[in-house]
Amino acid sequence: MGIIGGGQLARMLQAPAVALGVQLSVLAEGVDASAALVIPSAPVGDHGDLEAVCRFAAACDVVTFDHEHVPPNVLAALAADGIPLHPSPAALLFAQDKVAMRRRLTELGIPCPEWAMARTSTDIERFAARVGWPLVAKAPRGGYDGKGVRIVEAVEELTDWLDRTGEGTRGFADGILLEQLVPFVRELAVLVARSPSGQAAAWPVVQTVQTDGVCTEVIAPAPDLTPADAAEATHTALRIAGELGVTGVLAVEMFQLEHAGDRPAHLVNELAMRPHNSGHWSIDGAVTSQFEQHLRAVLDLPLGDPSPTAPWTVMANVLGGDHLELYPAYRHVMARDPGAKVHMYGKDVRPGRKIGHVNVSGADLGDVRDRARHAADYLQGVIDE
Ligand code: ADP
Repeated sequence: MGIIGGGQLARMLQAPAVALGVQLSVLAEGVDASAALVIPSAPVGDHGDLEAVCRFAAACDVVTFDHEHVPPNVLAALAADGIPLHPSPAALLFAQDKVAMRRRLTELGIPCPEWAMARTSTDIERFAARVGWPLVAKAPRGGYDGKGVRIVEAVEELTDWLDRTGEGTRGFADGILLEQLVPFVRELAVLVARSPSGQAAAWPVVQTVQTDGVCTEVIAPAPDLTPADAAEATHTALRIAGELGVTGVLAVEMFQLEHAGDRPAHLVNELAMRPHNSGHWSIDGAVTSQFEQHLRAVLDLPLGDPSPTAPWTVMANVLGGDHLELYPAYRHVMARDPGAKVHMYGKDVRPGRKIGHVNVSGADLGDVRDRARHAADYLQGVIDE
């Protein structure tokens, strides 16, 4: 199986691939890419380089992705060469392009934030008159971890983006995506997997906590979510997977709303078609992790059981911080909490960069949350005891 992109998601596919006897090969950004450090077959090449990608894919029986940034012309060439791609380019488009995703979900009647496209300041004023200031502006393509998302109070804050509309084929070629600022209660994510045969499985709905646009914590399952709301959110995610023909893991990021009248309980924010940060808890907290499930789905094998193995599992992300040398911190974290599961990505430490995560499972949510946070904070040098 070939993976385009050598980030931490490709890296974390390797452990279940070893267990299942699946040979992985990764098209990596460099010899020191996170996945290249653990997958022996790791030719170096750029995901936008048509020739490099086609050469890599020709040697693979099936190809999947570490990220959604492979350009459409490269995907089309792979499909034309008859390479099995999971997810397919037709499905992946909806994770690559937020406008295509908003259009399609709106057609399907799936609740989304109010949205519009803007190419001029008049377009922005008109949308603001409908939903009010502040509003949310997004780059249709290429954003991640909140980059490419702005909360704006006035048209002037978007002058630089307006100047770039119509430029090239990426970024703002089709304009700026505008959305209402959703007054959400909290953010949820629903992770599902779907195989080419159409079998699907869903993990419990989780709560995601973002700090400055970056996910810092995931609580599985989402506390105090009513069974009816959990069922509705799960149904929405499974419906999206089926309607868009997604194969592999799909993460559906949602905003939970205050209950009122017949208003929907959730709005869909984002889609990711690959293992996702909101599913890292499943490595230690579910019968089948999202990484094993992605392999099974891409290979069209029967899916594994997504049930949780503990009442609560909390994942805390480790962001790059003060500790440039991480191993001394291991001693403290492991001695203090033998139950904490540390996962590091072998990436250079840079401030704010996701370099690992910690999972803790148990019966007491407060305790589990404190322990996961403490371990992650210590690893990133925010605390020293
Ligand atoms: P990215 O592609 O960078 O992950 P997202 O669209 O997921 O961007 O947005 C990042 C974060 O910004 C979300 O997790 C949420 O906290 C906030 N956000 C995005 N869209 C809205 C919105 N319409 N209303 C309120 N908050 C939003």
